Amino acid sequence: MSLTPILEETLIKRSQQKKRTSPLNYKERVFVLTKSKLTYYELRAEVVHDSTTLYIFAPSNESRSIWVQNIKEEIKHNVQIAAKFHPQFWQEGEWLCCGQVDKLAPGCEGYNLFGDVSRKPLPPVPGDESASAARRPPPPPPQEAQEEAGPGQEVVIALYDFEGLEPHDLTLKTGEEYVILEKCDVNWYKARNTHGDEGYIPSNYVTEKESDSLEQFVWFCKNVNRSKAEELLRKEGKEGGFMVRVSSNTGTYTVSLYTKNTGDGVATVRHYQIKETHGSPPQFFLAEKYVFGSISELIEYHKHNAAGLVSRLRHAVGDQSRGAPPTAGFSYDKWEINPSELTFMKELGCGQFGVVRLGKWRAQHKVAIKTVREGAMSEDDFIEEAKIMMNLSHRNLVQLYGVCTQQRPIYLVTEFMEMGCLLNYLRQRRGALGALELLGICHDVSLGMQHLEQNGFIHRDLAARNCLVNSSLVVKVSDFGMTRYVLDDQYWSSSGAKFPVKWSPPEVFNFCKYSSKSDVWSFGVLMWEVFTEGKMPYEHNQNHEVVMMVTQGHRLYRPKRASAHIYSIMQMCWMERADERASFTEISHMISDELEDDGHEL
Ligand code: ADP
Repeated sequence: MSLTPILEETLIKRSQQKKRTSPLNYKERVFVLTKSKLTYYELRAEVVHDSTTLYIFAPSNESRSIWVQNIKEEIKHNVQIAAKFHPQFWQEGEWLCCGQVDKLAPGCEGYNLFGDVSRKPLPPVPGDESASAARRPPPPPPQEAQEEAGPGQEVVIALYDFEGLEPHDLTLKTGEEYVILEKCDVNWYKARNTHGDEGYIPSNYVTEKESDSLEQFVWFCKNVNRSKAEELLRKEGKEGGFMVRVSSNTGTYTVSLYTKNTGDGVATVRHYQIKETHGSPPQFFLAEKYVFGSISELIEYHKHNAAGLVSRLRHAVGDQSRGAPPTAGFSYDKWEINPSELTFMKELGCGQFGVVRLGKWRAQHKVAIKTVREGAMSEDDFIEEAKIMMNLSHRNLVQLYGVCTQQRPIYLVTEFMEMGCLLNYLRQRRGALGALELLGICHDVSLGMQHLEQNGFIHRDLAARNCLVNSSLVVKVSDFGMTRYVLDDQYWSSSGAKFPVKWSPPEVFNFCKYSSKSDVWSFGVLMWEVFTEGKMPYEHNQNHEVVMMVTQGHRLYRPKRASAHIYSIMQMCWMERADERASFTEISHMISDELEDDGHEL
């Protein structure tokens, strides 16, 4: 790391020990800022600033701006820096800016790490006002922001960078604010940036600016379950490593914390449920004495104070799979892809419709390209439906980016899934995956299926072979609804050799009656495939025998690795009557409850 000074100047430092503010407590010191540290010189000894609060005064406003801007620039990727700060002093037992009486209270103002320093003048210096005025409640929200957004306008913050790909798109920069002008559909919004530029943005790249929107924080790992949290924290291996995740579909939040402070020195991960008070609005706490108005304030506090936790929250650990998610198509209202913008790379596999290749779109974005063999697909029907499929956008569904239909063969361009098909993934890792990991796979699939169910979309061929795994080990459902366009009658005739009888409920193999509840049956069989690590269901039986057996009430056995409770979830999928089967919403709840067994450790 470079030691070349970025800034060097004599500034005025306030003594850290002294409670009262008197001229004697202010000393001139030479401060040096480098890429790795902020240092000052005390009687020629070098003091490196660490975690204590330093009060420094600059000789002029200009100098102050330069220091603030440079420090911000150097710390903007440092997740340990507080997201809030106090613009005024701690004096006489309270913060002059907000009147809080807890010295370690999290700051009262959002620290706009990515913004510039000219955003808002500081409140008047104490002394200019009477003591009682200084004790007033926190200042109202900044006027400029309100004027910019306009009354009733929705302001969002970008969670990821997005490079506008078409002229009508708007480029997004992580952390910056945008005003929403129009919600064109669930996946694309029209927005305006602070410079007044307007264009389309993907809705899953932004979050509401509401202070309680946790998605903007690195430590918030919404889709991480207990076992995955432990895996990520252990992999990071840092004392005080932590993340906040959603415990279950009931919406409770949990802090997972890694520590070696266990007495015996053995590293462990503790899970603490964030509790809410019954008041309105509710307040949040881990330890009852310390109650906060928001989860982000609670986290800020415990970053500095263990206060009952096994360690303070020292190091925010993010979810690596939180890379920018796929967008529903490459741009708003764009499903036709120009084939000359595609480059073809290695072959990934061969499916019902033809060869699947890895490729790149505009030489940059990795994609999977399915070439549809002529005569394999009822193309016009599919093209009609492709627009609907593109709008199905969810973390656990393989995204359809677009189609090339102006030439033959036609292409389907989808999200690329590095680890390939789930069935092979399971088979190649026999014995290596823990029971919680297996359940995590089922959870991913249940969430993808829940999204299809909520959109009234039926998969019709759910099985481990039709799910794919990406490099972050997220499992996604693929090929939804595609059997309707297969022209091979061996595939869709229930007596045909390729009909997925072993994944079908009685009403499907008897009457071809498909519904979300027939997908639920298939999901039970998929769970069975997962817990047998890729076995063929009813492996010693032919399709016609399975029809007989299932009709007589026979069901797949309990896999060795599935607990009685997990097997009971499978059995709920295999109720003879479709209306008695659980829904995907219920199933994903049951699985996430099973994944979460957070003790109340405080
Ligand atoms: P089928 O039509 O038989 O379900 P697919 O056409 O979906 O099969 O895919 C065939 C094979 O190609 C898969 O088993 C997988 O190995 C590979 N494949 C398909 N889609 C993707 C993708 N999006 N990313 C990576 N590999 C893929």
